[in-house]
Amino acid sequence: MGKLLMTLRERTLLMNSETIKDYGKLKKLIEERPTIKRAEAKNLDLKMQTFFRNMYSKVLKQAASEWSSNSAHPVDVIIDEEKTIQCQLCHQPIKNICYIVNKINENELIVGSDCVKNFEMNLGKPIEKLLEDMLKTKRLTILNESCNNIEDIINTWEYTLENFDVLIPGYLEKEYLELGTQIKKNYNNFIEKKNKKKNEDIIKTIEDLLEKREILIKKLENYVKDHKNDKYVVTRSMVKWLKQKNKHKVIKWLKSTGKVGMKTAHRIGEDNYLQSLVDDLNLKLKNTNIKIINFTPNYKGRKGYIYQYQNNLKLFCSYSNFLLESSWMIFNGSLNEDYDEMKNNLLSHSIPHQDSYQMVTNMLFNIIKKLKFSIHLFDKDFDQLFIYNNETDKYFIMDNFSSFINKNLNLNSASKNTESRYDSL
Ligand SMILES: [Zn+2]
Repeated sequence: MGKLLMTLRERTLLMNSETIKDYGKLKKLIEERPTIKRAEAKNLDLKMQTFFRNMYSKVLKQAASEWSSNSAHPVDVIIDEEKTIQCQLCHQPIKNICYIVNKINENELIVGSDCVKNFEMNLGKPIEKLLEDMLKTKRLTILNESCNNIEDIINTWEYTLENFDVLIPGYLEKEYLELGTQIKKNYNNFIEKKNKKKNEDIIKTIEDLLEKREILIKKLENYVKDHKNDKYVVTRSMVKWLKQKNKHKVIKWLKSTGKVGMKTAHRIGEDNYLQSLVDDLNLKLKNTNIKIINFTPNYKGRKGYIYQYQNNLKLFCSYSNFLLESSWMIFNGSLNEDYDEMKNNLLSHSIPHQDSYQMVTNMLFNIIKKLKFSIHLFDKDFDQLFIYNNETDKYFIMDNFSSFINKNLNLNSASKNTESRYDSL
């Protein structure tokens, strides 16, 4: 038993190729003495000996170059663990199948990927990639028979959480995401055949996990049903607003309870939520000299609350500052001795509402009247006050008149710590 001069796969390839027609003596040898051993080559005539030494591998290459993939159906993969077919070149059992066609004589062969690689056939596309894709498709088809719609479920796993009307709290989210990790791992193992577990075992595991998913989704739905009417539950619109503003840290905080609290109340700028706070805040402010008139999404480009102070003065405060100072009344018990501090801080963050400009100007006028100044003109658009000094006959321009009013008209005595208390994101 020595090595063959021409292997079975080489002989079959040659006999199916056009190249052989130019090599009559080789064809005759294949037909008459197919299993001639290498050791017997020395008995051939000198010309044939020289041919095998110098030309045979080149002729094989030439023959291999005649072949190409069947473009309509280039490859197939046998998934069934028990089943194989026979390669038409080497007669070995194969599972990775390539359909090849002779470009000249249109002969067709069904061969294994090993033979394709052996002859370095150039089939136009990388055979490994074709086989890999085919394997995935086939395995996915099998998986779908047991686990309907599995690919969609996997691909939209995280997105499912976004479909609920309220934010799913962290402990439930964690449970759901962990299940997702498990199912994805098994899914990839199956599709890419990464481990040696039997197909039906992996499918069974995936089926069990999908069943767990159904139960968990029910649990999430029940959570939403039980909590969607809760006061200050985190709504989907709030989450959307926070995402748009990249406030992911706030979303993370909100997940710990699923509800708005002291830490988060002033960091959410979603309109419905801000509107919904008006009545509750006013209830807490009932016996004070502050009353919210309305929430406005846009006062001179800012979002916040217009409120009345001491029954006559109208002021505006941004929602974040207003809630930073006042949300404790809702989220941390009732009105108590902190009221004065809150009031002062609120006033220091507020600007006079345009309806109150005349009133504020009059208040200032009364102060200035006692001095040797007189008001010449108030430019509303530029927020500037022109003041005339009677003694020196000179004019002064006062910029940022509104904030001057706030600081000096005894509307407040702002706490100096306000800024540091406001830790912005
Ligand atoms: Zn083969």
